Amino acid sequence: MAGVLAALSNRPDEVVIRWQEGALGRRELFSAIVSSASVLRGQGIGPGHTVAILAESNSPMMLFVRYAANLLGATVVYLRSTNAASSVESLPDDQQLAILHETAASLLAVDPAHVERGRRLCAALDRPIDIATYASGYDMIDLSAGASDVPPDLPIAADARAVITYTTGTTGRPKGICRSFRAWNYAVATMLDAEQTVMLVTTPLSHTVGPIADAILTSGGTLQVLAGFEPGIVLDSIAAHRITRVFWATPQIYQLLDHPRLATTDLSSLKTLMYGGIPAAPARLQQAAETLGPVLVQSYGTTECWEIASLGHGDHSDEQRLASVGRPSGQADIVVRDPDTGAEVPAGDIGEICVSSPGLLTEYFRDPARTAHSLRGKWFHTGDLGYLDRDGYLYLVDRLQHRIKFDGVNVYPAEVEKTLLTHPAIAQAAVFGVLDADRIERVHAAIVLKPAMAVTTESLRDYVRERMTPRHAPDVLHRYDDLPVIGSGKIDKQRLHREVTSISGSAG
Ligand code: AMP
Repeated sequence: MAGVLAALSNRPDEVVIRWQEGALGRRELFSAIVSSASVLRGQGIGPGHTVAILAESNSPMMLFVRYAANLLGATVVYLRSTNAASSVESLPDDQQLAILHETAASLLAVDPAHVERGRRLCAALDRPIDIATYASGYDMIDLSAGASDVPPDLPIAADARAVITYTTGTTGRPKGICRSFRAWNYAVATMLDAEQTVMLVTTPLSHTVGPIADAILTSGGTLQVLAGFEPGIVLDSIAAHRITRVFWATPQIYQLLDHPRLATTDLSSLKTLMYGGIPAAPARLQQAAETLGPVLVQSYGTTECWEIASLGHGDHSDEQRLASVGRPSGQADIVVRDPDTGAEVPAGDIGEICVSSPGLLTEYFRDPARTAHSLRGKWFHTGDLGYLDRDGYLYLVDRLQHRIKFDGVNVYPAEVEKTLLTHPAIAQAAVFGVLDADRIERVHAAIVLKPAMAVTTESLRDYVRERMTPRHAPDVLHRYDDLPVIGSGKIDKQRLHREVTSISGSAG
């Protein structure tokens, strides 16, 4: 955070963040941080305290209140978007309350759009909590009314919690991922860039792009911030603001490639298009590399680990490498372990991807069982299955929890999906395991056919059997017009599983 402040002292008259119709100068952002820190300090906020933030998607307040709290050694938690895939999703009141309650937040900072909701949450909490906003006239603590001198340098323990990031999957209670100042600063350091960088932010600042934004500001660059990804607006923004860097969920590249105005938009300023989050389609990446030039960098990581591996733009011209997620990034060490024995497996063998890195979480908040399961010694068990090749490139295969095991044979649904998608009649496929009445896990496939195509179940089973093994052939086929998706495009397999089991009455 001190790095951001130092960088903002240079060229104070220039704009540093553009958001909605507004623009924030470097001097103004500096004052917002310093003033907020001074007010928070006056409220007794410091190490061991938690500041919660509830603001419009990607509002600059999400950054400057975090910087202010972290400068004082306090922890930050965001209450708005708790799904990395979605920038607009807002949690219901009860879950936001649960987060305020379990993190024992001392203060809730809201933007003017969330004053009423913030008041409601505070009133419903079973203990007093301060509420603040960055404006006067709201009958609450005013973060804009603080002193203008930089708070004194405080000794902050590197392993103290800087941020608790809540993430949700398709179901279940959000899990709080605790990241220390050490881990956060490491993440920022891996993303430092040139001073001239102009980054377009379209994913939630509460998630992966948060440390990237810090790195851009620390490097002296500027941010163009949108609440979410809308391909037409994104194209216009890149051209109008000469954007040099973006960070997208992989399917957003495809949306851009398919946009009718792509060919007529000037994207020549773009130097780095970083993408990741879900498995990429190599053919689409090749198309993107041809259309956009040498700008693509794939990132594989998790909120718990930060970036684990990356695939540079040089590797995007190599068909084989395009199927990988690249080589270990920064100080990340990767080992692949047999999920049943824990033994490291040789190159080429599939196992669970385990990571050691200064970017690792310290724990899941108040969840020792989950922490003990995933964080063993210095290794974080990602739950991703994959293998390393002899050159150290990492290939993802599937999620461990999706593995279907039968008679000691592992079936990885993603591999069956790949085979199904080579069939000329199939447009979409999702494969998952379902326990039958004897509690034996069966391979189920949900498919969407291409227009005017037909296929029999038996011929499709033969197709897979011939290319894989009889064990991989789907036992049950479900036909859909479209597959349900979550967030940025992952197929919602839990929903498919639920639908299938409620129809068939299968166990599991
Ligand atoms: P999250 O913590 O929400 O960012 O999700 C992390 C998970 O997303 C990882 O465990 C992977 O399963 C998946 N993921 C992240 N990056 C990639 C990538 N480049 N390719 C395929 N899957 C990815």
